[in-house]
Amino acid sequence: MTKYIFVTGGVTSSLGKGIISASLAKLLQARGYSVTIQKFDPYINIDPGTLNPYEHGECYVTEDGAETDLDLGHYERFLNVATSQANNVTTGRIYQNVINKERQGEYLGKTVQVVPHITDEIKRNMRLLGETGEYDIVITELGGTVGDIESLPFIEAVRQFKWEEGAHNAIVIHLTLIPYLAAAGELKTKPTQHSVKALLEYGIQPDILVCRSERSISLDIRKKIALFCNVNVNAVIESLDASTIYDVPLLMMKEQLDKTVLSKLKLAQKNEPDMERWKEFLGRLKNPTSEVKIGLVGKYVELPDAYKSIIESFIHAGSKNECKVKVEYIHSESIYPDNAKERLAHLDGVLVAPGFGSRGIEGKIDTIKYVRENNVPFFGICLGMQCAVIEFGRNVLGLNGANTTEIDEETIHPVINMMEDQKNITAKGGTMRLGAYPCDLKKGTKAYSAYGKTHITERHRHRYEFNSAYLNQFEEAGMIASGVNPESNLVEIVELKNHPFFVGGQFHPELKSTVANPHPLFVKFVAAAMEFAKKKTK
Ligand code: GLN
Repeated sequence: MTKYIFVTGGVTSSLGKGIISASLAKLLQARGYSVTIQKFDPYINIDPGTLNPYEHGECYVTEDGAETDLDLGHYERFLNVATSQANNVTTGRIYQNVINKERQGEYLGKTVQVVPHITDEIKRNMRLLGETGEYDIVITELGGTVGDIESLPFIEAVRQFKWEEGAHNAIVIHLTLIPYLAAAGELKTKPTQHSVKALLEYGIQPDILVCRSERSISLDIRKKIALFCNVNVNAVIESLDASTIYDVPLLMMKEQLDKTVLSKLKLAQKNEPDMERWKEFLGRLKNPTSEVKIGLVGKYVELPDAYKSIIESFIHAGSKNECKVKVEYIHSESIYPDNAKERLAHLDGVLVAPGFGSRGIEGKIDTIKYVRENNVPFFGICLGMQCAVIEFGRNVLGLNGANTTEIDEETIHPVINMMEDQKNITAKGGTMRLGAYPCDLKKGTKAYSAYGKTHITERHRHRYEFNSAYLNQFEEAGMIASGVNPESNLVEIVELKNHPFFVGGQFHPELKSTVANPHPLFVKFVAAAMEFAKKKTK
C-alpha cells in the first residue's frame, strides 16, 4: 500500500519546499524505498508552458512532453528518476477536468461546487501516481503558502485525504521560518506558531515541522515549538541555510527527518541511507582542483531561476571534472560587434541560452561570431544552436540576411524555419515539439565522443528547426550535423570541425543532467573550458 506525505509551506514563500521534498525523497530512496514527488500548484494556468520566465522561472519539460514547474527538475536531479505529466497539477487543470466532466453530464444534474467536486478531483489526482503500484511513498508538495486564498481547496483536499487514509498512511510536513532578530539577539517562534494555527483552523494538525533558520535551533526552542504546535520534540526539524542545495539531504539525515517520517508512517527503517555516491559528488564539488569562468549569454539573466537547470548542470559537470565552474551572467542585449571582445575575452567558455522572440538575438549572434573566430569553447542550446547556424550562414557562407523565420518571416535565407507540423497550429499552450525524441550520432564527432554511443534521446521544446535545404552547404564549409533524428531527419546537433569545442543542440540537455548522471555534453564542455584556460595561462 502506498503511503503519502504532504509538504506545505508557512510564514513566507521561497523557503525551499522543493529542496526539502527532494532531500527527504532522496533519503527514503537511499534506504531502499521507491519514491516519487509531485507538485500541486494553485495558479490557474493549465501549466507553466505559457508563462514568461520572469514570472515563474524556467519551464521544466518531462520525458512525456509535459511543461512543468521547475521543482520537478530538482526532483529528477536528486532522485535520478524521470517524472511525467502526472507529477505536476495546477488549479487550472483541476478546474478544466471538472468543467469537462460537467459538460459531459457526469455530475447528473448536481450543483458543481468547490467542495466536494473540486476537492474530489484534487484527491483523485493526488492518488494517481500511488495507484500505479510503482511507489511505496508519494510525496506531494503544495505550492504557495498556507493562508493564501487560492490554495484553500488543496489544503481542504489534504484534510479529507488524511482523514480518509488514516494517520499512519498520510502525514503532513509543514515548512516554516524561525527568523533571527538581531536587535533582540533571539530566534523567534511566533510566526511558526501562527502558521500552525492557520493550518489547524483548516483542520490539519501537521505531523512534522521543518524549521528554516539562519541559526541553530536550541533544544529549549524546539521544546517550545513542540509544546505550542502539538508535535513531538523529535518532529521539530532544523533546516539551516546551506552553502549548496546538495548539502540538504545530508543535513536532513543528521536531523533524522527520514527516520521520523518512517516511524510516523509505521514503515520499517530498513538500512541506513546509502549516501556514499552522493558524498563523493559533494566531496568533488567542494574540493575542486581547477576553476573556469563560463559566460551564460541570455536575455533573462536578471532572474537566474530562468536558467535553473543549466546552472545545476554546470554544478554536476564541475563536480565530475573536479573543477569550480563560475558562471557569469551576460545580458545578450548588451553585446555588440564592437564590444564583444571586451565583454568576452576573459571567459574560458560561452553558453548561449535558449529563448523565444527577437529581443537580444543579435547580441547572441555577435557573441557566437567572437567565440567561433577566437576558438573559445562554445555550447549553444536550442535558440543558442539556432543562432550559431544563423551566424555561420551569414559570416562564413556569406548568406546575407540569413535568419530564423521566428524573427524575420520574409528572410531570403531561412536557415532556421518553422517545422512543417507546426505551421497550422495557432494555440500556444502545449503545442510545441515537446518531450523526448531519439537522435543518432555520427561516429568521429565531438557529440559521439561525449556520449560514447550512437543512439540517444533528448528532450525538446521548440517550434523551429535547422532548414535541411542548406545542410550540404553548411557541411562543406565545416559546420556538420553530428546528430540527426532517425525518423524525421531533423538536425539535432551541429558542430564545427575546426574548433576545439563548438557544439549546438536543438534539444535541452540541461533537463537530463542529474547528480548521479551529469550530462555528457556539459561534462565535455567544462573539460574543453579547462583546456582553454590552461592554454591561456601558458
Ligand atoms: N524560439 C525557438 C523555437 O521555438 C527556440 C526555443 C528554445 O530555445 N527553447 O524554435
